[in-house]
Amino acid sequence: MSDSDTRDRPDALRTPIVAVLGHVDHGKTSLLDKIRGSAVSEGEAGAITQHIGATAVPLDTISSIAGSLVDPDDFDLPGLLFIDTPGHHSFSTLRSRGGALADIAVLVVDVNDGFQPQTEEAIDILKRTGTPFVVAANKIDTTPGWNPQEGEPIQVSYEAQSDRASSRLDENLYEIIGQLSDSGFSADLYWRVQDFQGNVGVVPVSAVTGEGVPDLLTVLMGLSQRYMKDQMAIDVEGPGAGTVLEVKEEKGFGTTLDVVMYDGTIREGDEIVVGGMGDPIVTEVRALLQPKPLAEIRTEKRFDRVDSVAAAAGVKIAAPDLDDAMAGAPVRVVRDRDRELVVADVESELAEIEVETEEEGVVVKADTLGSLEAMANALVEAEVPILRAEVGDVAPRDVAVASTAAEAEHQVILGFNVDVLSNAADELEESDVRLFHDDVIYQLVEDYETFVEERQRAQQETVLDKIIRPARFRILPDHVFRQNDPAVVGVEVLSGTLKNNTHVGRFDGNEFERLGQLSGIQKEGEDVSEARAGERVSVAIDGPTVGRGIDEGDELWVDLPEKHAKILEQELTDEIPADELEALQGFLDNHRRRDPFWGK
Ligand code: GDP
Repeated sequence: MSDSDTRDRPDALRTPIVAVLGHVDHGKTSLLDKIRGSAVSEGEAGAITQHIGATAVPLDTISSIAGSLVDPDDFDLPGLLFIDTPGHHSFSTLRSRGGALADIAVLVVDVNDGFQPQTEEAIDILKRTGTPFVVAANKIDTTPGWNPQEGEPIQVSYEAQSDRASSRLDENLYEIIGQLSDSGFSADLYWRVQDFQGNVGVVPVSAVTGEGVPDLLTVLMGLSQRYMKDQMAIDVEGPGAGTVLEVKEEKGFGTTLDVVMYDGTIREGDEIVVGGMGDPIVTEVRALLQPKPLAEIRTEKRFDRVDSVAAAAGVKIAAPDLDDAMAGAPVRVVRDRDRELVVADVESELAEIEVETEEEGVVVKADTLGSLEAMANALVEAEVPILRAEVGDVAPRDVAVASTAAEAEHQVILGFNVDVLSNAADELEESDVRLFHDDVIYQLVEDYETFVEERQRAQQETVLDKIIRPARFRILPDHVFRQNDPAVVGVEVLSGTLKNNTHVGRFDGNEFERLGQLSGIQKEGEDVSEARAGERVSVAIDGPTVGRGIDEGDELWVDLPEKHAKILEQELTDEIPADELEALQGFLDNHRRRDPFWGK
């Protein structure tokens, strides 16, 4: 057994934790790989250390990659710890004491694509958590006519470009700067930024050629050193605090936790408190594991045991009773504190993340606490009520709970980044519960909203089909073709759609008088089933006699039952054409002169 490398630092400043965010395919993974790769190829100088779920790049490695950009004497922070899982999903999962776990973020934006939905989403999260960030304007090597300068700082690279290529790139960069400003951030190319606290620096990079990567590391290092030094000063020997990245079954160790420690030290044998599905779990660390160095990976054992790990670091914790632990939950070392106080601390942190639920709504499942919260926020924004929200895969119980929702559109499970247990899949088949799952939050919410809209539209259509529709029409002068049995007259439809077989009548004073029923409509000698506003047709009306009940020039109405008028007015005004709405309004106005509450 050996002490972890992070333990023997000369001072008590911890490594800043860096997260990489951005739209899918904009190059987050490639950029992380490039940073790791550059660090590995720099060889001897410190080199990188692979942690569980994170990669540490020490200061001397950064300075050898950055060359003249970084003078290690200017810095006393030990380096940078990059979270290995890119994307804002893991970013929002990773929290510490209510804030973001990452101290600083890199927002990757494809220079050609600019801002995309997940870029906006990432920006929102960065805003909400107040996390400082730089923008990596990636894929500069795809600029037409680009002359790649492998691994060079951006200024060196610029000098090697034709005017055309560099002005093409500049155009794209200014586009991104404009988009940042639209999102409320004053931004500029990083070498023009004086004050990084009020401005976002944009670093042109290529994750493929490595151009600009020295600059990116330099800016991250400089930002951390300048603005985060105080935050990085921790009691290294103090009781450790961290956040669960993943709960994982590990051969020989049972259920283990992959954790990022952001404060203090954790040691083998420490009593720890971990956030769980029920009450916080109190247990004892059996083993602390870190990955074996790459060179030794071929051996059977993938992990090295270490005595202790100091923040900031990624570590695997083996301990009993971890089955109910949740990704995103806090981990705290008790050490010489009162255990109950630590438990209360973990409980209150969990309570902050808890989602407001209601009597009626949808069921939400997510893979981590942070993502559950992000889902809940998105649903609140979309005004979707939540009946139950939990971390974990979709289980039969979720199907049972979802099916108790009163409204069909709430008999839904929204699963974010989760699997469906096979027995739950069977139950879903047999029930009316609908499952939506995705690993992009806005997509999930959008899919659900589309489903609700389509359902509502379909429902309105069936209602509209069954309902009698308003129409107003006028008997034309000199167009009486038959007096009665049935009366046949020429009419002009003034508003709405006149349909065959409907009852018609007129207002006599304020009383509606039903006159008879349409038994035929003819247009230009042909039988038709309806006539739209503006059309002139001849109609047969069973009941009245022209000259006695009705006359030329009379204005007649379709007789709209009160219940139908009410549904139309209260629920369907958006679904019917303007002229029909006018007929409805006229019909209601006439009735309401006699009875103000008619159809209400
Ligand atoms: P992620 O989804 O954001 O993690 O994106 P990836 O890192 O998987 O990259 C998506 C695609 O873009 C891959 O095919 C990469 O090879 C490519 N790519 C990423 N960065 C660059 C770059 O700087 N230049 C070029 N030419 N291609 C890149």
